[in-house]
Amino acid sequence: MISRRKTRPVHLGKLVIGGEAPILVQSMTNTDTRNVAATLQQITELAAVGCELIRVAVPDQEAAAKLREIVRESPLPVVADIHFDYRLALAAIEAGVAKLRINPGNIGGPERVKTVVHAAQANGVALRVGANAGSLHRSYLERSKGDVVQAMLASVEDQLRLVTEAGHDQIVVSLKSSDVVETIQVYQTFAARWDFPLHLGITEAGLRWRGTIKSGVGLGVLLAQGIGDTIRVSLTGDPRHEVTAAYEILKALHLRERGPVVVACPTCGRCQIELEKIVEGVEELVKDLPYPLHLAVMGCVVNGPGEAARADLGLAGGKGEGLIFRHRKILRKEKQDRLLPAFAEELQKIIQERYGSPDQ
Ligand code: SF4
Repeated sequence: MISRRKTRPVHLGKLVIGGEAPILVQSMTNTDTRNVAATLQQITELAAVGCELIRVAVPDQEAAAKLREIVRESPLPVVADIHFDYRLALAAIEAGVAKLRINPGNIGGPERVKTVVHAAQANGVALRVGANAGSLHRSYLERSKGDVVQAMLASVEDQLRLVTEAGHDQIVVSLKSSDVVETIQVYQTFAARWDFPLHLGITEAGLRWRGTIKSGVGLGVLLAQGIGDTIRVSLTGDPRHEVTAAYEILKALHLRERGPVVVACPTCGRCQIELEKIVEGVEELVKDLPYPLHLAVMGCVVNGPGEAARADLGLAGGKGEGLIFRHRKILRKEKQDRLLPAFAEELQKIIQERYGSPDQ
């Protein structure tokens, strides 16, 4: 059981980041925020796969003007991502966003930071501040003699000073780099110094395959050390993959439950059925299920019964046929082409028994 670092709770309406709250999964829309219908459509799709908090880019006043409607119709609390123009931050607060992601260093000087921070505080809007290794101000790198981790820490600590001196303490912090080792070091160092809740992410991680691996490694190391209160897996492409990847990382560490865990063997020379197809079929079968079931799909009886015994439902291949188990009990023996439909039938029975619904 991972023991989580104690952080101060930050409130976003009913949602809480940090404190005793579960690690929250978030994502960011990649639609044009000025297109309200497309943005709301994407937010709804993300909510359906388990996203709990959504960030939208607010690049100009036209986008800011659409925020009110987005906030009103969104099934998820909305975070406005603002850079360079403090007026956009004020407009977002006015529109009712739950949180602002700002860089206090680039919105026009201490007086404007104060104006934004006071408005956020008065309206119960949380703030996220953070450093990104790719956009650090030159002066921090010069001061740290090129040490990116130290430069990121100095940058974020300056931002925190600006915001806390203006009187706000509902702050979430991020320290993102596209380099996994840098990310781990900077979060570890920050976590040892401060109790602000942390938004974890590997920035610009890339396409789905590489990005998921990088995020799994970087976030996994930190989460296993109890560091991290909300996560975003940044992936190029459909943001729904960010959410499903985030849950797989959290499920692997027993930090959150959502949807089934599918255990499948890699196959070897003992396997005498087309297991890959069956596993793909099972994944397809369960991809939208919200229930925390443990499913095992094994190529043969060497490890099959062992894994299947732990599973709510298991399948172990034989020669052109296979067995379906429920924990230790063998339910059925089926020919290869009947295995997947039989597995699906047994799965529906379990869902019906446990959750009273034939499907989701
Ligand atoms: S379960 Fe059987 S087929 Fe799968 S890897 Fe293990 S020994 Fe090989």
